[in-house]
Amino acid sequence: MQRINDIKIAEYFSLCEFDCPCCRRVMLHPLLLKKLVEFRSIIKKPIYINSGYRCSEYNQKVGGIKSSYHMFGMAADIHVKDFLLVSLLTIAKELGFNGIGIYYKRNFLHLDVRSGEKRFWKGRELIGY
Ligand SMILES: [Zn+2]
Ligand SMILES: [Zn+2]
Repeated sequence: MQRINDIKIAEYFSLCEFDCPCCRRVMLHPLLLKKLVEFRSIIKKPIYINSGYRCSEYNQKVGGIKSSYHMFGMAADIHVKDFLLVSLLTIAKELGFNGIGIYYKRNFLHLDVRSGEKRFWKGRELIGY
């Protein structure tokens, strides 16, 4: 039996990878998917989506910020096996993700496609772009 959102939306991505773990609802901005597809084709390795869309309840539960781009389908937290975060960071910047957070301890990158000013932060600390 197939689960809900088990729909291939790009060569290496299924919709269910982006849905909310608590309710399986999902929103996904086309620009986010487009950039992740580009990312995937550059690194030629699987990209694991730790967190895609979050409903507001789930966002609160995981301690996301109030206006998190995850709640608008515009953000994904990713990790790639056997790939340094700093190398991923360089590529993410080149691809033009406007919001990038790097989390060394938990080994993932937050990427979002916000419009306007670019933001780059390390853990809780904002460090420019
Ligand atoms: Zn939910
Ligand atoms: Zn995030």
